[in-house]
Amino acid sequence: MKTDIEIAQEANMLPIKEVAAKLGIKEDDLELYGKYKAKLSDELLEESAKNPDGKLVLVTAINPTPAGEGKTTTSVGLGQAFGLLNKKAVLALREPSLGPCFGIKGGAAGGGYAQVVPMEDLNLHFTGDFHAITSANNLLAALLDNHIQQGNALNIDPRQIVWKRCLDMNDRVLRNIVVGLGSKMDGMVREDHFVITVASEIMAILCLADDVADLKKRLAKIIVAYTFDGKPVTADDLQATGAMAALLKDAMKPNLIQTLEHTPAIVHGGPFANIAHGCNSVRATKAGLKLADIVVTEAGFGADLGAEKFFDIKCRKAGLKPDCVVLVATIRALKYNGGVPKTELSAENLDALKKGIVNLEKHIGNLQKYQVPIVVTLNSFVTDTKAETDYVENFCKERGCEFALSKVWEKGGEGGIALAEKVLETLENKESNFKVLYPDDISLEEKIETIAKEIYGADGVTYSAAAKKELQRITALGMGDFPVCIAKTQYSLSDDQTKLGRPSDFTVNVREVYASAGAGFVVAVLGSIMTMPGLPKVPAANNIDVDDNGTITGLF
Ligand code: ADP
Ligand code: MG
Repeated sequence: MKTDIEIAQEANMLPIKEVAAKLGIKEDDLELYGKYKAKLSDELLEESAKNPDGKLVLVTAINPTPAGEGKTTTSVGLGQAFGLLNKKAVLALREPSLGPCFGIKGGAAGGGYAQVVPMEDLNLHFTGDFHAITSANNLLAALLDNHIQQGNALNIDPRQIVWKRCLDMNDRVLRNIVVGLGSKMDGMVREDHFVITVASEIMAILCLADDVADLKKRLAKIIVAYTFDGKPVTADDLQATGAMAALLKDAMKPNLIQTLEHTPAIVHGGPFANIAHGCNSVRATKAGLKLADIVVTEAGFGADLGAEKFFDIKCRKAGLKPDCVVLVATIRALKYNGGVPKTELSAENLDALKKGIVNLEKHIGNLQKYQVPIVVTLNSFVTDTKAETDYVENFCKERGCEFALSKVWEKGGEGGIALAEKVLETLENKESNFKVLYPDDISLEEKIETIAKEIYGADGVTYSAAAKKELQRITALGMGDFPVCIAKTQYSLSDDQTKLGRPSDFTVNVREVYASAGAGFVVAVLGSIMTMPGLPKVPAANNIDVDDNGTITGLF
């Protein structure tokens, strides 16, 4: 079997203008980044806004193994299958972060014969959006420290600076640092912190903003610090809004690339789902809905994180109404949730499967709460046995769930026809009565509790003293009606990554809370999750190389 990157490098890509033409996009409406990548012009987005909306299909998953469960692979393969069925479909996906690319999980272009290309470009610098986001974030940090250095007219309390610098890299030593060491001219000494770019508020803002005007409104509201008398200091107070927006001007435009089978793919924005809100930009999803009949989009990690935030933050805020959810499971992840160690997932183990399938059962129940029709799909691995696959299929059927086996990794679009047909059937015959999990007007604590009890299956929520206090402050500042963005481990329904399957008899602990006033949500950090990840003992970076001809190896 060829590696993902070998398959991607053999791809016969069409010039991107030909891919765009499938969606009726004229060359004039493309801003080309070479032959195979383009940004969609603002004019195109404005003009197409009058078109009717297509159908929105969300791809989500059960709690994953450390390798991921093939949501991107399934999304891409499903898009390819729609292409084979002559449907006008488009993908709406996230841009990969360098953190996982060089860390443990690898890239985010899909896998096998279900990938988007050019894979190396997408996984590395792509069209520079993350660079722009990082720059805007760090410009704000620089302006803030400079303001203090130049006399601190705003009376900022350096102990209450909440804005963090960012970098799109897994670099644990930057979690807690000291800045401003040296002489008087080197700035005020203070403790500082980095988050990974995909967890930054600028990333969330870019992904939730409707247009440049909305982007500026949101940037202006970012809270960077509090004054000595406890008043919030915003980006606008630092006169940072315009310059940040200027840096983000092009990053606001959705990127267009293609699948191995030339299906158009809009890839834009990339917040992580464990420490941020986990889905591609609203602009990309809305553009897709206007340009195609079906949009296939992915929410990161398990449905407890990605789907919950897709529904309760993105759909709520952007007024989107999903029509169908594809819930991806793998035999491997079910066995992992049944307690099998990573190294033994390839061997048949029906006992572990039966033990771990409670995870799938809980996710089905959770998704039903949003009243969007569900199709469960098994992303098939060559190591799966018939007995294992049959067991999962029967399990779903007994629960009245639509089921389809997907072989897109092995066979591309052809391997996704069964799934595509199930999704089409569902779109035609089943109505979506989408509703969010909780209303705007209950307290932030009640929102956190609702998610913890209804989605995670927790008995309740405990809070650190600091988190309690911050919730009070945020509410007093008028942000009590925001939705909550939970940051927690992706491996468990709980906030403890060792509790696999369907944990019960547990509470979750809110360690930290902060307001993302510009993004329009309140982040609640559960358990020991970090907003700046670290690298593993053997990082993927150790095996990545480029030869004399410029061919990259080792990306996956
Ligand atoms: P997710 O989006 O859920 O994080 P990805 O689609 O990125 O997962 O897949 C993670 C990795 O698993 C990729 O390297 C991909 O090639 C591999 N993979 C996905 N599906 C299969 C499969 N059916 N068989 C073998 N490898 C797979
Ligand atoms: Mg993915």
